[in-house]
Amino acid sequence: MNYFEFQKLKKEASGIGTEMYDMIVKLYPICRSITGDGVRKTLDIISEQIPLEKYEITTGTEVFDWTIPKEWNIKDAYVKKSNGEKIINFQKSNLHVLNYSVPVHKTVSLSELKDHLFTLPNQPELIPYRTSYYHENWGFCIPYNQFLQLEEDEYEVIIDSTLEDGSLSYGEYFVKGESDDEVLFSCYTCHPSMCNDNLSGVVLLTFLAKHLKNLSLQYSYRFLFIPETIGAIAWICRNEHNIKKIKHGLVATCVGDPGILSYKKSRRGNTEIDQTVIDVLKNSGDDYKIMDYEPIGSDERQFCSPGFNLPVGTLQRTSPPNFPEYHTSADNTSFVQPKYLADSFSKYFKVILKLEENFGKFYSKNNEEELPEIDSKNDQVFLNLSPKCEPKLDKTGLFRKIGGEKYNDALTILWVLNYSDGKHSLRHISLRSGIDFKQIKQTAKLLHEKKLLKRIL
Ligand SMILES: [Zn+2]
Repeated sequence: MNYFEFQKLKKEASGIGTEMYDMIVKLYPICRSITGDGVRKTLDIISEQIPLEKYEITTGTEVFDWTIPKEWNIKDAYVKKSNGEKIINFQKSNLHVLNYSVPVHKTVSLSELKDHLFTLPNQPELIPYRTSYYHENWGFCIPYNQFLQLEEDEYEVIIDSTLEDGSLSYGEYFVKGESDDEVLFSCYTCHPSMCNDNLSGVVLLTFLAKHLKNLSLQYSYRFLFIPETIGAIAWICRNEHNIKKIKHGLVATCVGDPGILSYKKSRRGNTEIDQTVIDVLKNSGDDYKIMDYEPIGSDERQFCSPGFNLPVGTLQRTSPPNFPEYHTSADNTSFVQPKYLADSFSKYFKVILKLEENFGKFYSKNNEEELPEIDSKNDQVFLNLSPKCEPKLDKTGLFRKIGGEKYNDALTILWVLNYSDGKHSLRHISLRSGIDFKQIKQTAKLLHEKKLLKRIL
């Protein structure tokens, strides 16, 4: 890209925060999920900005350890009191429905209703966001204050949804540069009405792609608009033959909140993308935060699984789940603001400029991490037997059933799986994660029994 192209771009970028924000407002009301028409509508709106390639993967298709689930769609849902008053109404907020709820039409007592209600006692005014993708269930999410006021009654419960064979939809946009070497940008399209977590990443990548498409570039750029986790796993599985072309990558999420920029390094931690992002943040004059890789978060978990270990980091503002609005109705159009979106856009753009500037010159050795010596008497080394993306842990009974909650002890499992690459010992994993060695050892034993790990030392 030459100087004039850059100046033109800078001018265009000045109003971009508002344009990005307007797109969030347009996407916000849609009830998205990992499959269904909400995702398709979202991809259609992105297509108004960039010529997206759209893909559908049929229900039942196997992608590594996972299977593409049935497609979920919803028209309406409510809970009505015996006097006819609707007390919970999907039309007012799509967060009211446990995402992926199976269809229901029945009358229930207060106690049965309560078994299917999700609340946030510590944030009693807010509606939580909860999912049940792989465990058939139905439910409603409501403010805790409302829950406390519910009285004995016969409640009519309707969830007018479908869960049927169909497909999983995703979008991809490719900008060809001089080289076949690729820079990957990925975001997820599966959260319903939430702005920072989900939509901010979608609009950032849409506008980034839009601004790249007419430039002369060295690298080729690939933009993914996929449902989180299952979409990333499916995409990697279908594109495994080309995965080596990815030289650098970033997962874009939570880029519209008032927090400072934070960068979560790739699993390797010292690759060119890590160095480039850190340089951009250092030179920005703004506050920022750098974090080491952890096998929790968004789709970097899949891109950085030990079977791929791609140089993919996450450039965000406040890292989820560390803002109180996370996975609640407060992650709304007041929480994200044009100026923060514009600031994130400009940081991402500078990363691209720097990668372009250093094309062909640089480090790209992507050095191996140096590990302390292994004490074979008091330590053990395991190998993850499903190293390509995360294995589907609920098959083994090891994982939570309701998604959307803050992380629980699944964390130790994810650490042990991600770092059991035959090089990191259990003590290394304990040191790296800050999790007690005993707990790491117990978890490794459990995963070994479930045949997810093989002991090699
Ligand atoms: Zn989320």
